[in-house]
Amino acid sequence: MEKPVTSPERASARTLVGKCQCGAVHYAVADEFVYAANCHCANCRRATGSAFKPFAGIARDKLRITSGADHLMIFGDDDGHDARCQACGSLLYSVVRDGAFVHVAMGTLVDDPAIRPSKHIFVGSKAPWFAITDDLPQYAAHAVAAAPAGGEAV
Ligand SMILES: [Zn+2]
Ligand SMILES: [Zn+2]
Repeated sequence: MEKPVTSPERASARTLVGKCQCGAVHYAVADEFVYAANCHCANCRRATGSAFKPFAGIARDKLRITSGADHLMIFGDDDGHDARCQACGSLLYSVVRDGAFVHVAMGTLVDDPAIRPSKHIFVGSKAPWFAITDDLPQYAAHAVAAAPAGGEAV
């Protein structure tokens, strides 16, 4: 943490702050997200109460709870769960990929991340009342390696 800034990568590294609705839980995450997408699956719709969940993925150790860890409500097991504030219920992030990654619910970020959602996934289970009106690539389920031009795998 105290290393001097010696490379352009270091110089550009930022830390983003995020928090729940009531402010009991705050987290810090490196602005080094590897991918971001809008997920239309039924679980994400129910977890957020919304048409889809914009999320950004990053290695689990790049996110830490800076206050209110004792207010976290975990739904799932250690290697795969949703983490919410137990006071206000905000979905903050999900631990995924056998515990290696977290998917930050982008709506809880206070700061503006460098990344933007680049695709819609699980469009096959999209809410029928919601229309996607942008030009981002759409995938029926997970984005796959055989992505359209400009797409990358999740
Ligand atoms: Zn809260
Ligand atoms: Zn989902």
